[in-house]
Amino acid sequence: MAKLSDPSKIKEVLTRHGFQFSKALGQNFLINGSVCPRMAEACGADPNMGVIEVGPGMGVLTWELSQRAKKVVAIELDKRLFPVLEETLADCSNVELVEGDVLKLDLNRLIEERLGGEQVCVCANLPYYITSPVIMGLLEGGLPISSITVMVQKEAARRICARPGTRECGAVSVSVHYHCEPHILFEVSRGSFLPPPAVDSAVIRLDLRKEPPVQVLDEAFFFSLAKAAFAQRRKTAANSISASLGIQKHRVEEALEAVGVEKNIRAERLALEQFAELANFLCPGV
Ligand code: SAM
Repeated sequence: MAKLSDPSKIKEVLTRHGFQFSKALGQNFLINGSVCPRMAEACGADPNMGVIEVGPGMGVLTWELSQRAKKVVAIELDKRLFPVLEETLADCSNVELVEGDVLKLDLNRLIEERLGGEQVCVCANLPYYITSPVIMGLLEGGLPISSITVMVQKEAARRICARPGTRECGAVSVSVHYHCEPHILFEVSRGSFLPPPAVDSAVIRLDLRKEPPVQVLDEAFFFSLAKAAFAQRRKTAANSISASLGIQKHRVEEALEAVGVEKNIRAERLALEQFAELANFLCPGV
């Protein structure tokens, strides 16, 4: 089938297949014909590169990716969409559909077996109920990924891309800034989806860094310290870290002083470098 950009055609195909949207699976399909080409262009897919898509839905973004990429591997959890995808992607010989839960699949193996183990990019209109676990899994899985271009809720886009040390940041932003350079590319209104979600969205691109911008002695401890610091946002970083990691509070305060910040600082005021210094100071066995 040719490009699917006409909302009435999209509705006709879904109705013909008797498809009912599942709210639990975050099914809000794109019906704005200009958004998918913009996302596919922005993700940097080219004829030498493989792309992983999470949640192809009825294949509107998949089709655009297939026109630009060497190969597209699209992971979809909802079995009911496979007959629809077989119709909408009938002319896309470089698309491989994989049935499964992106959070449970071994992505390293998938890239090795289906995309030749080469550098790939990720492009998706993410199911919003798993935005953070998907992004964290992609970043922390040691995968050969050069960039991640995803549609997320507008608020989530701001949180994910917020620089550590600024009001909207959280544990995800610490991980994001450690692994990549984040960019908010453009906003997408709720009316661009069927059914329309309750909030507007934004497309972000995370460009994976070759080297992290700070040196940490133990990455796993660095990330658990960041999660601990934000676990109880209304408490000071010292209280939150102490309660979550079981480190004595005076020891955390000692570390904060060594880093040159006040003992009662909150996690959202700590910069990436300060998180790294704190983690290196408190790292067990060092
Ligand atoms: N890409 C399509 C589009 O833009 O119109 C659909 C996007 S829709 C927001 C999210 C898609 O992710 C749905 O097709 C849904 O079934 C799928 N999905 C939900 N949870 C998933 C999971 N854990 N693993 C893989 N796909 C999932």
